Amino acid sequence: MNIGLISLGCSKNRVDSEIMLYRLKRSGHKLVSQPEKADLIIINTCAFIEEARQEAVDRIIETGLLKSRGNLKYLVAAGCMAQRYGSQLLEELPELDGVMGIAHCGEIDKLVEAIQCGQPVVACAKPEPQSQVFSGRILTTPPGMAYLRIADGCDNRCSYCAIPGIRGALRSRRLEDVLEEARRLVSEQRVQELVVVAQDTAAYGTDIYGCPSLPGLLHGLQQIEGLSWIRLMYLHPAHLDDAIIDAIASYDKVLPYLDIPVQHASDRILRLMNRKHDSTLLRALLAKLRSRIDRLVLRTTVMTGFPGESEDDFKRLYDFIAESAFDWVGAFCYQPEEDTAAKSMPDQVPQDISRERLERIMKLQHGITRRKNIDRIGSLEPILVSEKLSSQLYIGRGYYQAPEVDGITMIKSTRALPTGSFVQAVLKAVRNYDMIGEAFDEASP
Ligand code: SF4
Repeated sequence: MNIGLISLGCSKNRVDSEIMLYRLKRSGHKLVSQPEKADLIIINTCAFIEEARQEAVDRIIETGLLKSRGNLKYLVAAGCMAQRYGSQLLEELPELDGVMGIAHCGEIDKLVEAIQCGQPVVACAKPEPQSQVFSGRILTTPPGMAYLRIADGCDNRCSYCAIPGIRGALRSRRLEDVLEEARRLVSEQRVQELVVVAQDTAAYGTDIYGCPSLPGLLHGLQQIEGLSWIRLMYLHPAHLDDAIIDAIASYDKVLPYLDIPVQHASDRILRLMNRKHDSTLLRALLAKLRSRIDRLVLRTTVMTGFPGESEDDFKRLYDFIAESAFDWVGAFCYQPEEDTAAKSMPDQVPQDISRERLERIMKLQHGITRRKNIDRIGSLEPILVSEKLSSQLYIGRGYYQAPEVDGITMIKSTRALPTGSFVQAVLKAVRNYDMIGEAFDEASP
């Protein structure tokens, strides 16, 4: 059968999509990128916030039209929204022939067989603690990089977040399985950069080994020949301990780039959010990281408009962002989510106020990010080339830019640059959130 897959949502979801693509190809199906040519389409959905759910529903309805206009015979919803709503989705969206939760990615081939028999399929078992052994993935990321998911689920109970209810409790993968996957990605798919992801990366191993095990994992990854960059995302500040900081500081393949979601800086709001850290811890942590790690680049995410957020609370967040000078900030407006404690909290903040506060943060951060980028002008940096734009222009990323969430580095070069490889480039200019560089020619004076 010709099968298409549309992957929505975050990098963790993308890994599930890549596993499904591999299983489908291995069982003899042909993967197609044009939906019009597909007999069956899987939409791997996100359910993080209302906007994401709406996008998923729109894509299901729009794709469903291909049943009358194109080849399409079957449409399946997978991922977080499927996990959250199960058979309810099948009732509300008659375009669907199957609904498959996150625990079933590894058996997508069997579910496709069942759907071909003409029966609507609902497979939404609760994710069980398990070792997610690596079977194979078809990478959908630009050449040279891959996400490495080390755990799924989350044991924190941030009061605004529905993820633990959807993806379940923290389930770390066994160290040897993660390392085996990493080695194969490097040796078989020529991956140079592994971007380590989980809902709470710093908590890796606490469920299966009884203690935080990220340092041991980084030690193993550091030994992989051919791997150049290890990038850590989603490090909860309350779990970023000295052992992890020591490992980051001592392994040269671990980039001095850390993504540490702080969410807020008013202690009152952080308590209501159940974040398990306060602003004193955040300030001490940032100072420690900056004193221990050279050339450190920091990314964070914050939320505006959490229930009860007063102008004074917001000012604390604003001042914190101004003083901390993160290189990159992602900001989101709070949205009340079903099955979360925050939904029933008093003093919900009107959306227009949340949005106006978000815009103030983003305006402030735009200036900070621009200044940080201007400071990089003149430096010589290895850039991982991901795409050729025209005969003398390429897109890539430096260590200071994570894929999909930060800016990019455009590289001018008169010689051909292979994608998926590094080039040394001199950074020459800044455009919006991006940098512009020129490939360094060692022969030039
Ligand atoms: S750390 Fe908090 S925000 Fe992140 S997935 Fe876990 S509960 Fe949600």
